[in-house]
Order: sequence, then structure tokens, then C-alpha cells
Amino acid sequence: MNRTAVYEGGCLCGAIRYRVSGSCSPPALCHCQSCRRATGAPVVAWVTFPEDAVSLLQGEPARWDSSPGVTRAFCARCGTPLSYRHADYPDSVDLTVCSFDQPEAFPPADNIWLEHRVAWMADSDRLPGHPRNRQG
Ligand SMILES: [Zn+2]
Ligand SMILES: [Zn+2]
Repeated sequence: MNRTAVYEGGCLCGAIRYRVSGSCSPPALCHCQSCRRATGAPVVAWVTFPEDAVSLLQGEPARWDSSPGVTRAFCARCGTPLSYRHADYPDSVDLTVCSFDQPEAFPPADNIWLEHRVAWMADSDRLPGHPRNRQG
């Protein structure tokens, strides 16, 4: 994927804002246990940028080492997961696709860590659907 446009994103409460300008690797949906626990979600969409393509516009994320060599950053105020860095790849950073203002710009290309997938996720797109809540 070659996206050189500028995109911005941030956390739910607005304390942290960031901007990317550069080309990303194809986004992926990660089913790993670590991402699931870090977010409370069954699957997490990630997109990878060169470290120097990402700039922090506002706020300072909290950081936590979730496993050896892995640092996850998030908003200490509202909890939004923002990034993942691995010591083995110091020149790149993964950003949560859904913290971007325009997540539609980063359609996932792959599912990764399917061996960790919650079993019921395999059938989730066959469940009854509603445009809003179950009443609406
Ligand atoms: Zn926040
Ligand atoms: Zn993961």
C-alpha cells in the first residue's frame, strides 16, 4: 500500500492527537491474546508506519511494556490504545486503525494470529445485525 497523504487521529477524550505523513504497510486485523487483553476487544486493526512518519501533536501517551521488547502506548485519561512498538523493529510503529479520524482509509489486508482467535469470532458476521442498537 502506498499512502502518502496526511492523516490525523487521537484518543477518545481528545487529550492526545497525532499525525502521520508517509507510506504505511498493509493494515492487519490482529487476533492475538495480548492485543485482545490490551484493548478488551476481540480483534484489533493495526497499521504500520515508519517511526519518523508519526508526530505527536498534543498530549503525552502513557506507556507500558506488555511483553519483552513490546511497548504499548495509550491515553492515561480515557484509556484509548494508540500504538505498539517492538524493540526488534525500532524504526516502525503500529497504530490502532480505529484511533484515526478516518479508519476507512486503512482497510485491513490480512487476519493475523488466527491461532489465538476467540472461537465465536469465526461466526460473528453471521449474527443478526442492527444499524444501531437492538431496538433501533
Ligand atoms: Zn484520551
Ligand atoms: Zn496482536
